[in-house]
Amino acid sequence: MATSQYVYSFGPQGSDGDASMSDLLGGKGANLAEMARLGLPVPPGFTITTDVCTAFLSEDGKFPDQLDKQVKAAMAKIATHIGEDTPVLVSVRSGGRVSMPGMMDTVLNLGLNAETVERLAHSSGDARFAWDSYRRFIQMYGDVVMDVSHDYFEEILDDYKLDHGLEQDSDLKAEDWQKIVALYRDCIDREAETTFPDDPEEQIWGAIKAVFQSWNNTRAQTYRRLHSIPDEWGTAVTVQAMVFGNLGDSSATGVCFTRNPSTGEKQLYGEFLPNAQGEDVVAGIRTPYYLSAAARTAAQDVNPSLEELMPDLYAQLCELCGNLEQHFRDMQDIEFTIQQSKLYVLQTRSGKRTMQAGLKIAVDLHEEGLLDKDQALMRINPAELDRLLHPTLDDAAVTDVLTRGLPASPGAACGKVVFSADEAEAAKAQGEDVILVRMETSPEDIHGMYAAAGILTSRGGMTSHAAVVARGLGRACVSGATALHIDFEAKCARIGTQEIKAGDVITIDGSTGRVIAGRVAMREPELTGDFATLMSWADARRKLKVRANAETLLDARMARKFGAEGIGLCRTEHMFFDPERILLVRQMILASETKQRANFLAQLQPFQERDFIALFEVMQGLPITIRLLDPPLHEFLPRRDDDIEHLAEALGESVETLKARLRVLHEENPMLGHRGCRLAVTMPEIYEMQLDAIFAAMMQTEYPAELIEIMIPFTMSPEELHLMRDLLARRQAAFGDVGRVAVKFGTMIETPRAALMAGQLAPLIDFASFGSNDLTQMTMGLSRDDAAGFLEAYVRQELLPSDPFVHIDQLGVGQLIELAVMALRQHKHVKIGLCGEHGGDPESIRFLAKMGFDYVSCSPYRLPIARLAAAQAAVLL
Ligand code: PEP
Ligand code: MG
Repeated sequence: MATSQYVYSFGPQGSDGDASMSDLLGGKGANLAEMARLGLPVPPGFTITTDVCTAFLSEDGKFPDQLDKQVKAAMAKIATHIGEDTPVLVSVRSGGRVSMPGMMDTVLNLGLNAETVERLAHSSGDARFAWDSYRRFIQMYGDVVMDVSHDYFEEILDDYKLDHGLEQDSDLKAEDWQKIVALYRDCIDREAETTFPDDPEEQIWGAIKAVFQSWNNTRAQTYRRLHSIPDEWGTAVTVQAMVFGNLGDSSATGVCFTRNPSTGEKQLYGEFLPNAQGEDVVAGIRTPYYLSAAARTAAQDVNPSLEELMPDLYAQLCELCGNLEQHFRDMQDIEFTIQQSKLYVLQTRSGKRTMQAGLKIAVDLHEEGLLDKDQALMRINPAELDRLLHPTLDDAAVTDVLTRGLPASPGAACGKVVFSADEAEAAKAQGEDVILVRMETSPEDIHGMYAAAGILTSRGGMTSHAAVVARGLGRACVSGATALHIDFEAKCARIGTQEIKAGDVITIDGSTGRVIAGRVAMREPELTGDFATLMSWADARRKLKVRANAETLLDARMARKFGAEGIGLCRTEHMFFDPERILLVRQMILASETKQRANFLAQLQPFQERDFIALFEVMQGLPITIRLLDPPLHEFLPRRDDDIEHLAEALGESVETLKARLRVLHEENPMLGHRGCRLAVTMPEIYEMQLDAIFAAMMQTEYPAELIEIMIPFTMSPEELHLMRDLLARRQAAFGDVGRVAVKFGTMIETPRAALMAGQLAPLIDFASFGSNDLTQMTMGLSRDDAAGFLEAYVRQELLPSDPFVHIDQLGVGQLIELAVMALRQHKHVKIGLCGEHGGDPESIRFLAKMGFDYVSCSPYRLPIARLAAAQAAVLL
């Protein structure tokens, strides 16, 4: 063990520890030490370190040699602060580095026995209180330490009340509690087959062991797994003199936040109960009262506020809150007790808050001079900004939760249920909001996903097609709601015995995964005020530029609204899926002669031109990276029989012939071969048409050529880039005024080979943009759909360290990027960016910023996240 000091005392004499020692003393222990150090009214106590916990658990319940002596000395110190007549009663509580609310065990009122209970009755002048405390102690200790379930004690108490015609606990007198103590002790004899310990020393060691052991109870283990808290951290144990809020009318106990945790408003916020113990407030047995008179009046509560009931103590509490906030430079969540008109503080920690409140508090603390801008920026978790950018549910209005799936794309949506993309589109055209419900989605559903307010699937994970596309579109999505059984024939879905029919209204919450019956009230996102202030600080601080992945008008407008500094990826294939032109696209692909194909392309060109004009108009003044056609052609071709029949008719061939041709074109996943720039080798006329459309749109909108970047997908070799450059040069020459269309030329790096060849690609390009989606798939040898299924299970079982489809720095993908960047950096003229999904992931952004990337590009809705994450990366560098 690293240290031989196992026990750290705190109290009116000062403290052995301080706030910086939360690794060793746990968050609670460290802050208690700090408060005592500041001279605040903390009941005396001591903390046993997390190191002792780790040793105890790994050495089969053995404690280090010196511990016994150190605990005795610390207990003696507590006793010196307590008057001679009063027995030393303590609480024994857990406290890890980070708070794990309610996951581990606590024992209160420890130290009571037949003798001390009489002394407590005498010193407090309240025998009822003393015997009630004793029975509470037996109950808690029996449950936590001696494994006698809580229920036995509840049953004894209920029977007693029934036998004696008593209703409320408050109807029981000292004698009643005394009898109950005897009954409880009998119960322990019976159930634990041993007597309840009377010796305070024996009691305390039992409690310390039990609290350490509770680190490994199932609840705590599950919580740690869900919150990525390492098992080896262990918990500290804090032993502290009891103070009582239930010693009559001049006593009380409560919890308060120094600012409103919902809105961030600077006002004391919280509740208390007169003549009660802390657990009464938490357990909700009695309805607590308001702290301030203003809050009570606003809520029209009949019970007096603390401000009205004990004005002096309320003033002391306000002062205490102010001091703690100033000292910890953050909003605090405080537990306090008033014992016979004396205020004690039992705990302080940074208070949990909504995103809205978090922004306000960060900005206000800066204005109050407590934080500089960098510190304020670091206070916000970028990943959680998401919650602010989409309409959110008014939680008070949520009643009927039908089931839960994965929170795949944040935001909430409600509308009528439809079971096909076509129906979604038709309903939208009628002005109706719909939720598209599918087993899973495919690229063919894109128009329906676009038309829908939200998407619900019964299969697929966080990176399934539905999830990725919905995030890109800014649509709410709940995926993998496995309890949902869809019957497409009957146009209904079942969840257990409940039935959802087409046309029924449901609400989905893509931020939590909830599927709710009926329409739930929504709140629109607020992008002004504190949000805007913090974003302006982030923009001033970051070096990494942030662009958007956008191709539609809607996306582009959203991108500007969310602060994009350009478009980093315009996926032109999305423009091909439009129902108006998909037939032309299919005819073009399946044309058997070049001339025929040219004819279809000529018909498609005006569509493309119009798309680009619209896009350029919105993005005026900003750079736009346009990626030429990427996906394998089968993605555009029909799969459903009715679509195939329709196409066969249009082509004038039999369904069987067409199906045979479709089979030839279909590529298995991962789709590596005939796609991206290799399509342009066999069918250069597609890229030619796209370039001509871009040039025409540039003329129409007077878009400067240096802001247009032509990006070649799926490159694997310098030879391919040579071919593509020649193709571009040909179209520029055909245009005539080459200078007017002297666009930038670059490539995606999304195959491992391109990453390894980056040094040879660099002389041929102006920019390189990493396509981390495909690069991850190919590095891992897994597809995105795989990731949705078994890979997630692998990650959960810790067969893989983390989900590589979420963070770029995992498992080789990051190393490949590092290698490529090193090679690219030798060529100063090359601008380096990334446009895969990772461009909106804070951890990945930190990794990229460290490497000196010029920009990242992400879905419009993730822009604020990327802007803040980039600023934090700059602060941390
Ligand atoms: C990528 O592969 O990372 C990329 C951006 O391209 P797409 O997602 O369109 O394959
Ligand atoms: Mg790609």
